[in-house]
Amino acid sequence: MSYRDNFDKELLEVVSEVDKKIQPKLSEIDEQILENQSKVLQAFQHNGVAESHLNGSTGYGHTDEGRVILERVYAEALGGEAALVRPQFVSGTHAIGVALLGLVRPGDELLYITGEPYDTLQEVLGLAGNGIGSPKEYGIDVDYIDLLKNGEADLNTIKKRLSSKTKVVAIQRSRGYATRESFTVDKIKEMIDVVRSVLPDVWIFVDNAYGEFSETIEPLDIGADVMAGSLFKNAGGGIVPTGAYIVGRDDLIEMISYRFTVPGLGGAEGATGSFLSLAFEGFFMAPQVTGNAIKGAIFEAALLEELGLSVSPKWDDPRTDIVQTVNFGEKESMIKFAEAIQRNSPIDSYVLPIPEEMAGYEDEIIMAGGTFIQGSTLEFSGDGPIRPPYTLYLQGGLTYAHIKLAIMGAAQYTFY
Ligand SMILES: *Cc1c(COP(=O)(O)O)cnc(C)c1O
Repeated sequence: MSYRDNFDKELLEVVSEVDKKIQPKLSEIDEQILENQSKVLQAFQHNGVAESHLNGSTGYGHTDEGRVILERVYAEALGGEAALVRPQFVSGTHAIGVALLGLVRPGDELLYITGEPYDTLQEVLGLAGNGIGSPKEYGIDVDYIDLLKNGEADLNTIKKRLSSKTKVVAIQRSRGYATRESFTVDKIKEMIDVVRSVLPDVWIFVDNAYGEFSETIEPLDIGADVMAGSLFKNAGGGIVPTGAYIVGRDDLIEMISYRFTVPGLGGAEGATGSFLSLAFEGFFMAPQVTGNAIKGAIFEAALLEELGLSVSPKWDDPRTDIVQTVNFGEKESMIKFAEAIQRNSPIDSYVLPIPEEMAGYEDEIIMAGGTFIQGSTLEFSGDGPIRPPYTLYLQGGLTYAHIKLAIMGAAQYTFY
């Protein structure tokens, strides 16, 4: 029996047309993978990564040479001077919160210029939740500037809104659960240039989650000062079991390190246990795995558009992250598709995902994906709020073959 026996003849014909159509685009991504793989390989070589660096420390984690080298490799490959890459970060949200709150002081303002921040960061910043421990309690103002109706940053309002109080300007690269498009590194550069025309020395932070290795340059290469992301997404290569990273300017990473642990200690302590070997290997694989996820997203966009759904980005649009959104237009097929994503996962394939209310969200959310690393969205997954236009956010997949099989399986289950 062949895998092809699981699919309708008609679907196989559509897939074969789609394969032909997207081939040039997939080749472009292969070239991008080469650029990024080369960058990472060189960072390993320049920093002399050795077998002994794969063994972590215990206790205080003093003289943890592997940790020091890992952070140098991250800094070089992602365009920074220094980095914190630690298993003690519980998630990307934690690292982003530590980075932002490590830079602001009483009387300062932290200003997001790309609309409402990602859901999980709203409580961190005191924009939602009960406010306990929020920046406001410390006399720090946090605000955001809405995007224009077309999803672009509102550059005129941003210019007017910046003041001598503004210490940190924050930019979110990926779309999150918003309907806007993600911001390419070029678009981020436009924003940074406008901000710097008013406040040349303001610190610019980028939430880089889902973005790493999705283009051949990163926000730090075009003028951002600090960025952060999760190791359950691109930078972990799909195999790092815990942690997150912050990369950027030397002096700012030092300030942030005192928020990460305590003043004085900073990044000098922190045992790495069994973290290092997977952290090195995952980062080495990240360009390829991220590239596979993007190739999978291109296939998803092309196939699902061919089947009559509206998708964003379109298959041949420029991409700056691994997220693919699909509008189902009605509840039933959205839920069915999410069920099929779960059925086509390697882990927990027998589980039925059910829409559920979640803290911080106004609508029920459905989440599908059976992953090796709990909740990892560099692995094949789909989720979204149950509300019009009934959009699923698809992302990840460790191999192109799995993404292709799974999407074909989901299309078969939902539409044939
Ligand atoms: C996933 C994500 C985060 C948070 O990362 P976690 O590891 O899930 O906490 C922050 N911002 C954006 C845009 C994200 O997509």
